[in-house]
Amino acid sequence: MRTRATVVMTAVVAGLPALSLPAAAYVRTTTEAGAATAWKTPCVTMEFSLGAPPPEMDAAGYLSAAQAAGEAWSRASLDGVDRCTNVIFTVEQVEDVAGPVGMDYHNRLIFRQNGWCRDPLPKDGSCYDSSALAITSVFQLKNSGEILDADLEVNATDFTWGDYASHPEQFGYNTNDFLGAVTHEFGHVIGLDHTCFSPGKTFVDGTLVPRPVDNSGNPVPDCSAPNLPAIITDATMYVSVATPRAEVELRSLSPDDVQAACDIYPFTTNFVCQPPSTPATGGGGCSYAVQRGGGAIACALALLTMAMVGRRRR
Ligand SMILES: [Zn+2]
Repeated sequence: MRTRATVVMTAVVAGLPALSLPAAAYVRTTTEAGAATAWKTPCVTMEFSLGAPPPEMDAAGYLSAAQAAGEAWSRASLDGVDRCTNVIFTVEQVEDVAGPVGMDYHNRLIFRQNGWCRDPLPKDGSCYDSSALAITSVFQLKNSGEILDADLEVNATDFTWGDYASHPEQFGYNTNDFLGAVTHEFGHVIGLDHTCFSPGKTFVDGTLVPRPVDNSGNPVPDCSAPNLPAIITDATMYVSVATPRAEVELRSLSPDDVQAACDIYPFTTNFVCQPPSTPATGGGGCSYAVQRGGGAIACALALLTMAMVGRRRR
């Protein structure tokens, strides 16, 4: 996939002025009501359940990888400006082995090692598609788009995870680069969608997600469209990669990804992350979201595609 993107870029430059490329291509997630999603204050703390992580790396290795993924988005720089965004990701280790997905003001990062299933299990008892590598569920207010909670589940039932940059020799057919994948998923956590569109994606209520527009107002092309420009395929928020080597490239944000963080959460001087005020929790968490029109979008398609592409190519 990366190789193909490079070839396309060359062809475009040869035949057309570079200026014909779109200036930017990032895509924001929107709610069923059409509101673009964002945190009110972009200080996001992820609680990483590391009580018994998968054996390929130790807890410290997973933790530092997740923290590096957060750092990629935090205090990002663009065009020589030292810092253009207020986004600050913090990843904290918790000793839990697992944790529930839900609207409870706890943003969780969880390995699913004993079955690739949501916790709590949905009413119909179904589990996730086994080819999905990771799923991020974001809970936001339907009308304002304010994100309240995000949970990231990593499929450690069907796949193993590692550090491809340091240990490429350990990577087999089902191994994936943890840091690269989490960097992509953290983009979803702050309200970004893919830079291309996969028709058929649905909201949790089953209605189809309409084709979004990018930040320039252009309809987002299908992910299956030929000759997608490099600004789309080079982004960390692109939908798929074909190999672990390409997955490593997700670790580095493209200028387009950084532009998204800086446009949605622009840097303001004297900005500091305050300790979160704890909203009423307990039994009211989910009902609060439902009453206020909260909804969740599960992002399965991205990494689902990633896995399928990898299989076809290898
Ligand atoms: Zn994705």
